[in-house]
Amino acid sequence: MSSETGYRDIDRRARVLTKAVKYSMRPVEERIQDFEEAVLGYCEEDGMAEAARCVQCPEPQACMLRCPAGNDVPEALWLMSQGDFIGAAKVFAATSPLPEVCGRVCPNICQDGCGLLKGCGSISVGKLEACVTSYARQHGALAIEVPEEKTGKRVAVVGSGPAGITVAEDLVKIGHEVTVYEAWPVPGGVLIYGIPSFKLDKKIVMDKIQDLEDAGVKFITNTRIGEAITVDDLLEEYDTVFLGTGAAVEATMNIPGEDLKGIYKATDLLVRANVPFDMLPPGMRETPVVGQRVAVIGGGDTAVDCARTSVRLGAEEVTIVYRRTEAEMPGNKTERYICIDEGTDIKYLQAPVEFIGDDNGRVKAMKVIKMKLGEPDSSGRRRPVPIEGSEFIQEVDNVILSIGYWPDPYVSDKTQDLATHNWGLIVTDEEVGATSREGVFAAGDNVHGPDLVITAIATAHRAAESIDAYLKGTEVKWAEAPPPREKR
Ligand SMILES: Cc1cc2nc3c(=O)[nH]c(=O)nc-3n(C[C@H](O)[C@H](O)[C@H](O)COP(=O)(O)OP(=O)(O)OC[C@H]3O[C@@H](n4cnc5c(N)ncnc54)[C@H](O)[C@@H]3O)c2cc1C
Repeated sequence: MSSETGYRDIDRRARVLTKAVKYSMRPVEERIQDFEEAVLGYCEEDGMAEAARCVQCPEPQACMLRCPAGNDVPEALWLMSQGDFIGAAKVFAATSPLPEVCGRVCPNICQDGCGLLKGCGSISVGKLEACVTSYARQHGALAIEVPEEKTGKRVAVVGSGPAGITVAEDLVKIGHEVTVYEAWPVPGGVLIYGIPSFKLDKKIVMDKIQDLEDAGVKFITNTRIGEAITVDDLLEEYDTVFLGTGAAVEATMNIPGEDLKGIYKATDLLVRANVPFDMLPPGMRETPVVGQRVAVIGGGDTAVDCARTSVRLGAEEVTIVYRRTEAEMPGNKTERYICIDEGTDIKYLQAPVEFIGDDNGRVKAMKVIKMKLGEPDSSGRRRPVPIEGSEFIQEVDNVILSIGYWPDPYVSDKTQDLATHNWGLIVTDEEVGATSREGVFAAGDNVHGPDLVITAIATAHRAAESIDAYLKGTEVKWAEAPPPREKR
């Protein structure tokens, strides 16, 4: 049982029949004028009322099982419903170093398992998590506790996204000395250089970095490992190295016209539109300009973020063009509907086959083909099949390509004996996070591919546990290199 109080004596029937309490959002016409957070969330009173709908299912609770990090949702909601917001925040923080972030950006996989889903609607767990952790932050209750006695072991973490942050926090809490190396000017990974501030205020991430610094974690930014300092160099200086380098290389469509002016890559647009200049390298301090008609190619969270960013940059007609149907679309459904509310149109079963430029080499239109769904592919989703002769021309002022990411092969190319799979993903032992290079562990998007904040946290927790065991002398079975790579 998740609770210390045992099976809770509550009126479950009444709770099942209680209507969901809505959290608040800024009005559409106001929020599309700026890059401030769109969701206001719950006030304390409404949050308690929503948390009090939880029927405290007996074990095993589906919400907890579904959360990759294993958040004890029923216990946190119980404490919140009793008015113990700090206690609730501590329950979330026990399994995730980023509850304030997950409360805002997690697609709430836990909610899909909620027993109330088919009745009055699942509990808004994420928004409650954001509410209690913001409260705890205001009351100074999120400090990271570290032991006075240190182990004397030194760990280098490469990358400061959710995976790097998780490993840094888990290990500093045990008394290890942690130094994080980051290529960007500011730590945070995609939480700063990707997810727009209308979903996640950058201050929340910076507060977390401050907590880690206060706990003794050292951050060295503007340093890309593999250049002046390599992983081999780090292994000389530290007892172990963790790679949390993410997956930031953008996929391309390989169709004519992709290099025309006016066609942005997703991260370039998001970073330059959303990140304050003082957090950007000097060469990127220019706000992107969009015309009236913007087409975003792709599905998923990034495409939605690009569409919402384009609206805020002043585009009047924003269209997401996706090659499958809504049923196959990845990403957070709630965010998708928010995006539609903000004026974006989504065209399903379509894909561009060519971008057409004007005399100045600037995109002015795209040739689009209609699709139908065929047999499922290796991802289990039905494959989009072009309908011959269905091409049409769509005029555009700008195009944003948001079609997926791969890990940067830079670190693995520069590190001896660090094996990768065909697509550049680092080979690890799934449970342990041990790579093929002795002394080096990895987790997050660079291992499992682009996914979610919470999955990066979950895999990084496992890697941190293995690193601690390794530092204490447990023998580690290092991953085996796969057979030689085929060409992409
Ligand atoms: C635009 C966008 C929106 C998203 N929206 C959501 C969302 O709403 N909800 C959600 O759950 N997930 C979302 N995701 C996915 C989520 O952000 C990632 O899955 C998560 O950040 C992965 O964490 P990570 O630590 O593995 O990698 P990252 O966050 O990518 O961090 C890796 C860090 O390593 C650094 N690095 C790389 N190579 C080196 C090197 N050689 N030397 C030093 N530093 C290096 C990078 O600069 C980066 O800071 C989104 C992703 C994107 C791109």
